[in-house]
Amino acid sequence: MKEPSSVRVIGAGLAGTEAAWQIAQSGVDVTLIEMRPQKRSPAHHTNEFAELVCSNSFGSLNADRASGLLQEELRRLKSVVIKTANLYSVPAGGALAVDRGKFSSALTNTLSLNPRIKIVRNEQLQLPHEEEITVIATGPLTSELLANDLKNFTGIEECHFFDAASPIVEGESIDLSKAFRASRYDKGDADYINCPMNKEQYLAFRNALVNAEQSEVKDFEKGNANFFEGCLPIEELARRGEDTMRYGPLKPIGIWDPRWGDVEDKDVRRAKRAYAIVQLRQEDNAGRLWNLVGFQTNLKWGEQRRVLQMIPGLEKADFIRFGVMHRNTFINSPKLLKPTLQFRKRPNLIAAGQLVGTEGYAAAVAGGWLAGTNAALLAKGLDPITMPITTMIGALTNFISNDKTITKVKKGFQPMPANFGLLPELNKPIRDKRSRYGAYRDRALKDLGRYNQ
Ligand SMILES: Cc1cc2nc3c(=O)[nH]c(=O)nc-3n(C[C@H](O)[C@H](O)[C@H](O)COP(=O)(O)OP(=O)(O)OC[C@H]3O[C@@H](n4cnc5c(N)ncnc54)[C@H](O)[C@@H]3O)c2cc1C
Repeated sequence: MKEPSSVRVIGAGLAGTEAAWQIAQSGVDVTLIEMRPQKRSPAHHTNEFAELVCSNSFGSLNADRASGLLQEELRRLKSVVIKTANLYSVPAGGALAVDRGKFSSALTNTLSLNPRIKIVRNEQLQLPHEEEITVIATGPLTSELLANDLKNFTGIEECHFFDAASPIVEGESIDLSKAFRASRYDKGDADYINCPMNKEQYLAFRNALVNAEQSEVKDFEKGNANFFEGCLPIEELARRGEDTMRYGPLKPIGIWDPRWGDVEDKDVRRAKRAYAIVQLRQEDNAGRLWNLVGFQTNLKWGEQRRVLQMIPGLEKADFIRFGVMHRNTFINSPKLLKPTLQFRKRPNLIAAGQLVGTEGYAAAVAGGWLAGTNAALLAKGLDPITMPITTMIGALTNFISNDKTITKVKKGFQPMPANFGLLPELNKPIRDKRSRYGAYRDRALKDLGRYNQ
């Protein structure tokens, strides 16, 4: 085996911290570069590594929930971040929440004391030389100069600085006795799920949207609010006028439920059609995830659930991801990355964390684990690994790095959190949801077996 080369990790957030630790644990020297405190991000408040910028929760501890399964996989893979989170956990009713100060200080100490980890407190201004094995994990608030260099490297279209995404719901939670499949003017296949509203339902829905509680828009995001006249939050459309949504994303024209009868006459059709229609578009090839078209929003998550469940057919919808409109640097990973998290056009450059379009703290740690593991393998002249797609870490990496999975049904790439909709179907389908999720968990942990020795 060749003498391992050293590796550079840029960004000591959740992903970079995990990556640097895994590299050092593999016996490879690593330089970890963090810009704080020399340069501040608009959301971080401390100089510590792995700072949690908002909530202090990693999500459910229960391994038959998606975030719980991902945590359990990481625990078995000897993640230093999850181990430290367990050590500094606080009671949170079944979730893994931490004392954020103690958690970040402990990780900063642990890494600082490791003789294989050299820490440099400097802003990285551009991508390092192509020969150097590098993990880039600079997160949603990557500093401007580096983000520009990354954009030059990926191409302008492939690096995004703002995320305006609609909520995603689980397909099986949509009530198809009220909703129906069809496309506008019956063009092509019946690709959309349509939720029809009568006038009374529409007005009540609009009223709820207009009065729902908004999330706080951070100072550093305010400038972006003006950029997207063509991509306004749904609550803003609702505010602009009683019918604005009916002339926009809720337009009912040309959408017909076969259950309304076989009507030829245009006037009768017009009189019988819905007053407004919410459309959902398929998000994955298997049709298990559906996004609400045109529903990017700034509403608080609890409010999104309450208001969107007023839509006929979505009364019991399970939300996989809520709508967002916020500053977020992320790359078009399905086009750029391999499932090893290496860039296709520069295999020595590996990306991890929110930058690759995963969402959530545990998902960032998972990316850091894989990126660090693979950087160390490359440094030793060995082949990098991919994780089984039956595991949550593998399913998530496969989703973000697989252009076939995404582009067949959807043009743009939007960040994705851990969820069971990403896992392949079981050999024998199980109808009961709890039992099914339990079976996903058992399969994932079994298939992870050979990686967690
Ligand atoms: C305002 C805000 C609130 C959020 N709230 C939540 C939440 O409640 N729950 C949740 O799960 N997720 C939340 N997220 C998403 C969250 O950022 C990620 O889940 C997670 O922190 C991503 O980890 P990361 O390691 O990719 O990035 P980060 O944790 O952001 O780490 C990136 C690191 O890179 C450093 N860095 C950036 N540029 C450079 C450079 N050029 N040179 C050197 N260092 C650099 C940064 O200082 C930072 O330390 C939030 C994001 C934002 C912006």
